Amino acid sequence: MTKLAITVPFHLDETVPSFASRLASANFADRVHDFLWLTGINSQDLYDGKVAAVEALMELGGISPDKFSNRHVVRDGHFLDLNGERLSKHLFNRGCRKYCYQCVVEDLQCDGGAIDERPYDRLHWNVSFIRTCVRHGLPFTKVDRFTSASKDDVVNILKCERQSSNFAKPPRVQAHTEFEKYIEGRVWGRRKSSDWIDTLPLYVAGRLCETVGATITKGRRFVSAELNDSDWHVAAQSGFEILQSGEDSFRAFLESMHSAFFEKRSDFGGRAVYGRLYERLAHETHDPAYDAIRDIIRDVALSNLPLGPGDELFGPVRERQLHSVHSGAKAYGVHPKTLRKELAKSGVIDVHQSDLTDERVLVSATVMAKVAGHLKHKSHKAEAMSFLNADRGTWMALIRCGRVVTAHPNDNAERQIPVYDLNKLGRLLAFLEGLATSKYNRISVSYSFSTVASRAKCSIDEVIELMFAGKLSKCSLAPNERGLEAFRFDLNEIKNLTRLPHHGGRSLAEAAADLRIGTKPLAKLIALGHIVTETAKNPDNRCRQTIIRANALSEFSEKYISLFQLRRNTGIDPRRLKRKLLELGVAPAIFEEEVGATFYLCSALPEQIPLAGNCFVNMR
Ligand SMILES: [Zn+2]
Repeated sequence: MTKLAITVPFHLDETVPSFASRLASANFADRVHDFLWLTGINSQDLYDGKVAAVEALMELGGISPDKFSNRHVVRDGHFLDLNGERLSKHLFNRGCRKYCYQCVVEDLQCDGGAIDERPYDRLHWNVSFIRTCVRHGLPFTKVDRFTSASKDDVVNILKCERQSSNFAKPPRVQAHTEFEKYIEGRVWGRRKSSDWIDTLPLYVAGRLCETVGATITKGRRFVSAELNDSDWHVAAQSGFEILQSGEDSFRAFLESMHSAFFEKRSDFGGRAVYGRLYERLAHETHDPAYDAIRDIIRDVALSNLPLGPGDELFGPVRERQLHSVHSGAKAYGVHPKTLRKELAKSGVIDVHQSDLTDERVLVSATVMAKVAGHLKHKSHKAEAMSFLNADRGTWMALIRCGRVVTAHPNDNAERQIPVYDLNKLGRLLAFLEGLATSKYNRISVSYSFSTVASRAKCSIDEVIELMFAGKLSKCSLAPNERGLEAFRFDLNEIKNLTRLPHHGGRSLAEAAADLRIGTKPLAKLIALGHIVTETAKNPDNRCRQTIIRANALSEFSEKYISLFQLRRNTGIDPRRLKRKLLELGVAPAIFEEEVGATFYLCSALPEQIPLAGNCFVNMR
């Protein structure tokens, strides 16, 4: 293509679309698209960076092909490549969407060319990460959408801007940050390639700085829409300070975010711990360029949090490095309290961690396998009772009898939550079931452990021991029940086998009958100390009862005889007999007013009065 008669200078930091727009304006074209059409250059090819189109434009402007290479932005699908760097399309705003007020002012003051063609669009103005002019320290002014001309028509855009209120006064000075210097350096192909951050694609490094920074300045759950340009300016620099120090610094930042988990302010899900950083990488982009970051987050999380199979972190977690007491208890089927005690006993966890919840006490998966594996098949009381299907009374009886013992391997058992070996319990149950040889009879009445013990007035311990001694011939298993609840016993058999030996004394009723007095006079005689009593267990119901030994009754009967008995012996009316004895000088030894019956001392009676019929005589 032939060089045009009228050309404009192509500035060292100018974009190709800007040069096209200025060249078009200098050649009296109102719109750059008309100019390109007239010169046979495909505008889309030019903006996509196709070499033929760009070279054609350069030839028209009299620019040597080697003079535009560092400003040559090539579109590749959703990405743009320039100077060996890559940016996603939405992070590079082609067509002067923002500008430095002071740069434009200085452009206008330059000599040469029509005034409208003097201001031009700089390459770094197009990069969204850069928000401040490095030369003037001014925040970029955003082009007023309502007054701007069509996209890519840089001359008209800046002309409209100069006439808008947007351009009326310069913005306030804002420091050009190290982050922006870094991004600008890479945009121009100045990459050290020695730092960790340099290994990341430019757009990944930029976005990561912004996200990490916003997390620091606005919290892990920051809302992007609520941050203005100034907020992002500060945030990006904060993030850059972390990331430019290297991967270890980024890892330390990630670990600092775990504090919320350990302070019980969140669970250990990726979103809860890492907030928007995780959400962006997990849900808002599937770009593999972020995989290196995802790998680091996953590694840090797995090394510090109890994540394992069943959890999600950028997809299902397939390995586990750490267990919490909670996850270990679940994985190995051990009660958390038991596991925690065992871990403390083994010195794996600190007793000072007692204020942490089970989810937050962490142990390496290897150690957990060793400790919890040892406890596997061992259960705490509730589970063991459920395993045997034993009610509380039967369970306690098994413990008292020593038929069920805790599974603690050492002598420090009293300080631990008891655990029981389910294998041993299974063998115990099988043994007892083998002793139930009687066939279950649906019609005859039979009772469970607790009911038969209650009705036979014995303890469940005795029923259990009778079983172990093989003394029960009528023990059966109810077909619709499970475990110990299935056992059925014959009440009479249990009663006969558990009845206590007789105490050898007389009950109060029996003693009253022996003395041929009522129970009330007997009670008064006892109360007045005339008859000695004892307490003993009733052999049938095992209740404590007052009894009178035979010798105590004998003593009383040898000493006293009732007026009632004297009447029977003599056939004399009691009042007359009483009067007669008084005349003989014999007064009652125990008066009717005292006990409800009259007694005389046998020794005081005249010899002619027969003592036959006295209970003492009968008993002898
Ligand atoms: Zn400037």
